[in-house]
Amino acid sequence: MDVIIVGAGIGGLTLALMLHRRGISTRVYESANEIRPIGVGISILPHASRELCELGLRDALAAVAVTAQESCFFNRFGQFVYKEPVGTYAGYEWPQFQIHRGDLQQILYRTYVAEAGAGRVVTGRRCVRVDQGDGKASATFTIGGRDDDTETVEGIAVIGADGIHSQVRKQLHPGDGGPIYSGVNMWRGVTRWKPYLTGASYVRAGWLTHGKMVIYPIRNNIDAEGNQLINWVAEVETPDHDRQDWNKQGRIEDFIGYFDDWHFDFLDVPALIRAADSILEYPMVDKDPLDRWSFGRITLLGDAAHPMYPRGSNGAGQAILDARALADALADNADAEAALKLYEDKRLAATAQVVRTNRTTPPDAILREVYLRSGDKPFDRIEDVISAEELAAITNSYKKVAGYDKQSLAGQRVA
Ligand SMILES: Cc1cc2nc3c(=O)[nH]c(=O)nc-3n(C[C@H](O)[C@H](O)[C@H](O)COP(=O)(O)OP(=O)(O)OC[C@H]3O[C@@H](n4cnc5c(N)ncnc54)[C@H](O)[C@@H]3O)c2cc1C
Repeated sequence: MDVIIVGAGIGGLTLALMLHRRGISTRVYESANEIRPIGVGISILPHASRELCELGLRDALAAVAVTAQESCFFNRFGQFVYKEPVGTYAGYEWPQFQIHRGDLQQILYRTYVAEAGAGRVVTGRRCVRVDQGDGKASATFTIGGRDDDTETVEGIAVIGADGIHSQVRKQLHPGDGGPIYSGVNMWRGVTRWKPYLTGASYVRAGWLTHGKMVIYPIRNNIDAEGNQLINWVAEVETPDHDRQDWNKQGRIEDFIGYFDDWHFDFLDVPALIRAADSILEYPMVDKDPLDRWSFGRITLLGDAAHPMYPRGSNGAGQAILDARALADALADNADAEAALKLYEDKRLAATAQVVRTNRTTPPDAILREVYLRSGDKPFDRIEDVISAEELAAITNSYKKVAGYDKQSLAGQRVA
């Protein structure tokens, strides 16, 4: 019998591929009618990149993504605050990839169906309920968006990898409310632009109170002029926000005012925003950590289990780490219920800590410190505001929480 995976997002497809490689039969059911490259940029830091490299995807990823060189911070006046090398440039064995979410999803999807067979990803199937009993678990889906047309499939386990609005989670935790708004709204876009700084620099600038930008390239050489596809996210504290819909179009006039005078020497930020191919609006939301994911033969994974603020570049990464832990547990245990419990034991507390730390002290806490200590004024020397050691301590502490500090990675299993 199959392991039934609900959701062909980053977590679901990674799990499918990992289980398939371990000789465990899987089938993935996705509500969308086709696997289309939706979304904008995401980051894959060394802990998650290691997992993808071990799946043999390193070259495929490097061919479409940007291998990041450095992470840099600036205030809203464009003054340099702090930078550090990342991924292989920081001595890790595994790169930090900046990638279009759709490119990553397509690589996972194509690799999985090439190995397991095209029929292993079934689209147009929206999960409406899950059940279990008699040594089996089952999931019921509507077909092609029609509520009167359903199908129920059985397997050894059902994994809810169905994202932040997870139906599986709603059934397992009926009292669970919707996503919690952080007070920060986000506008995400991509712009064709010439390379800035190293050509592979992950930039964070400003602060949420008056507007913060996250900017990084996600595709190289997209035209004859050597331009890149630059991903950017504008984050602004405001009570105004709409329901979470990954496809909601954003309006430039709603946020450009915060960034109109950001003419940095390495990048004209308002010009970058105005030249965007597309802009999406999405509120910064998460949910309180759960005390339980696994109920017998049914469990949760990725955003369904632990949606988090995208302030530490860890949403996709933690879903990938979940997939690894669950694939190992199912491969090592003939008893699926025991495997799902072991997986929860390994991952629940670890991800809950990332969710909480993303609320309080993710890496961009560097910018909050500079904003507060400088009184939001230009400074003469950053050393007069805060020391490099203190800034490094913020990012190093986050690496430990999220599990990608060198010591943790070296101390874990060897590939
Ligand atoms: C369309 C879309 C665009 C996104 N864009 C971005 C982005 O630009 N930047 C970013 O940082 N993060 C983005 N994300 C979120 C990001 O992919 C996740 O935070 C992270 O990768 C964790 O992955 P996941 O597999 O847990 O969830 P997701 O990647 O969200 O995948 C969940 C999957 O489950 C499917 N699904 C949902 N409900 C059901 C159901 N009832 N039955 C069957 N299938 C279902 C969804 O269609 C989706 O394919 C996006 C997610 C989606 C779905």
